[in-house]
Amino acid sequence: MAEFRFKALEAVLNREPLVVKREDNLTSDFYGINVFDRPKMKKYLSKEAYKAVSDAIDNSTAVDRKMADQVAQGMKAWATENGATHYTHWFHPLTDGTAEKHDAFIVHAEGGGVVEAFSGKVLSQQEPDASSFPSGGIRQTFEARGYTAWDASSPAFIVDGTLCIPTVFISYTGEALDYKTPFLRALGAVDKAATAVCQYFDKTVTKVQTNLGWEQEYFLIDEALYMARPDLVLTGRTLMGHASSKDQQLDDHYFSSIPTRVYRYMEDLENEAYKLGIPVKTRHNEVAPNQFEVAPIFEEANLANDHNQLLMDIMKKIARRHKFQVLFHEKPFAGVNGSGKHNNWSLTTDTGVNLYSPGRNPKSNLQFLTFVINTVKAVYDNQDLLRASIMSAGNAHRLGANEAPPSILSVFLGTEVSTMLNLMEEAVVDRKMTPDEKTALKLNIGRIPEIILDNTDRNRTSPFAFTGNRFEFRAVGSSANCAGAMIALNTVVAAQLEQFKVEVDGLIEKGVKKDEAIFQVLKQLIIESKAIRFDGNGYSEEWVQEAAKRGLTNVKSVPEAISAYTRKDVKKLFEKMDVLSEKELESRAEVEYEKFTMKIQIEARVLGDLAINHIVPTAVEYQTTLLTNVRNLKEVFSPEEFESLAAGRKELIREIGGHVSAIKAKVKEMVEARKVANVIEDTIEKAKAYELTVQPYLNDIRYHIDKLELAVDNELWPLPKYRELLFVK
Ligand code: ADP
Ligand code: MG
Repeated sequence: MAEFRFKALEAVLNREPLVVKREDNLTSDFYGINVFDRPKMKKYLSKEAYKAVSDAIDNSTAVDRKMADQVAQGMKAWATENGATHYTHWFHPLTDGTAEKHDAFIVHAEGGGVVEAFSGKVLSQQEPDASSFPSGGIRQTFEARGYTAWDASSPAFIVDGTLCIPTVFISYTGEALDYKTPFLRALGAVDKAATAVCQYFDKTVTKVQTNLGWEQEYFLIDEALYMARPDLVLTGRTLMGHASSKDQQLDDHYFSSIPTRVYRYMEDLENEAYKLGIPVKTRHNEVAPNQFEVAPIFEEANLANDHNQLLMDIMKKIARRHKFQVLFHEKPFAGVNGSGKHNNWSLTTDTGVNLYSPGRNPKSNLQFLTFVINTVKAVYDNQDLLRASIMSAGNAHRLGANEAPPSILSVFLGTEVSTMLNLMEEAVVDRKMTPDEKTALKLNIGRIPEIILDNTDRNRTSPFAFTGNRFEFRAVGSSANCAGAMIALNTVVAAQLEQFKVEVDGLIEKGVKKDEAIFQVLKQLIIESKAIRFDGNGYSEEWVQEAAKRGLTNVKSVPEAISAYTRKDVKKLFEKMDVLSEKELESRAEVEYEKFTMKIQIEARVLGDLAINHIVPTAVEYQTTLLTNVRNLKEVFSPEEFESLAAGRKELIREIGGHVSAIKAKVKEMVEARKVANVIEDTIEKAKAYELTVQPYLNDIRYHIDKLELAVDNELWPLPKYRELLFVK
């Protein structure tokens, strides 16, 4: 086995950076060539078909069957001219990945042979055999039917000769089985609620769009080394490995120059992304060795999320070309930083106003404050739901560790906005305000600097931070589908905005002037949600104490965090906002519990296998060598000399023996714990059992293996070590 490790290292030494051919000099010349975007639709579609799709994109209207037929013809013409032979409905099941089943364009031709065909019916709807996707019990396996339906708001694209059509995935009885369906509903809910609130300030606003700019962190590991680590291959993370003597202590990786092989990978990736119309903008080294980040320019949220899912997919494919493997796991290596996916989120009106950008006058600033304050209140009221939306087996390793947002939800606003909120709280009085008081308040509100963007303190420890013209939800895991978090966030903000409108309207009906009604309700919200505002160090122990005092929740258990999805108030909220039904929420929670259980189960099995079949034999082999050596020493030397020469060796033999015995015993216990957990029927109880009784063994066993790694001859050690995984490339 050690042979495998050394062969892998040798392979890495012989790697040459790949030469990447750019599609064209100017990115703008080839941007989107593989996307059926508006310019192409204009060219390939009739005027009315173009209008139908445009309306679908701009106003979420449906495309009828007759129009769909026309669109299908145009799409097929474009796709086949551009080398596509197949088409697929592309969707986001609840697996953290995308799914596709390809069909060739061909049908039998009259009189023999085949002909390329594609119809509105096929474009609009498909019925993939959906029985093997997680559904959390909505669709029993015998009821295999689910269907995919075209999401005309996200353009079709070609990947490797296949026309991919973004779709939603729904059970035959109408329940969502994917991320996209509730995401579109949540975006609709925010649109409706935010537009209504905007009406207080500007009657011409008719639509509010959600924007998402994700920052994707990832690790790149050489393919040969990766293949020599069964734990990476099967679980996405290392289940063992002693810390490298050097890792990120010197902070010499962050923003440093990008190694050539990696640089070529990024170039290749960007090239492919541009062809697919994904506006990737930044690339840099992250904090941990071999950790990197890519981020696009933000886009409409549904499109942005499709782009994130698509990019993750092509990142994996392109990595293979460069003999890398890309790791999206939230914590592939113990002791160095893990990976997240910051979700930069904002709302803009169809009049071109970013509702999270301070404006130029008191009125637009009041609108800005209205949205900020309602968002803070929504987060305060829904801490547990937001946590549920980002929690997973992988992400749990990050949350609470000293590198990632803590498992306590708090909101960072920065000095400028915090000061303004404090001022409003004081200046708005409970009685009718005098004209002077109002003028003074408005003057102050008008004084929020237009560009706080540049001077916002960049608090990196907050899970939910205002960063000048947007909120940044940073607690999202790197492997997650952004929609999970975005569904929750948009839903709670929509609900809060609706509630705000009800309260303000109520006061107006009672004869309070509009601006004063807004002031009063905002003041109330500021007071009610104060506890969640925190600008200090979110990683500190003091914050944990302080947050507890403030009554904020801090849930570290994964199943417990997920269970927020099925709380009564959460079900009511989602139902009210028409985003997820009770049944859909329950199924989602089920899926999450199951995912958690299975991930820990797989990790436990892999660790058991590696421990017993790789590590123990290696340790025993080395121990045997030591024993032989001791025996030989005894033959050659006098008893006194022997004692002094062999003492250290004997100690080492004992130490190895101790670790080997401990590993064997603990693996046995872990198997027993799994057996007990496996017979539990209830999914949450089973997940809890895995968390409490199986997961701890992963660390226990690892401890002994890592000690053995330090003791055993390097020549014998079978698995690539941390220093090799993190530094060799
Ligand atoms: P950092 O937070 O690391 O400084 P960047 O400035 O590169 O990151 O921005 C991160 C992401 O935020 C990018 O995708 C960017 O397009 C996006 N972004 C910038 N402004 C907004 C906005 N108003 N709404 C949503 N996303 C935004
Ligand atoms: Mg950021």
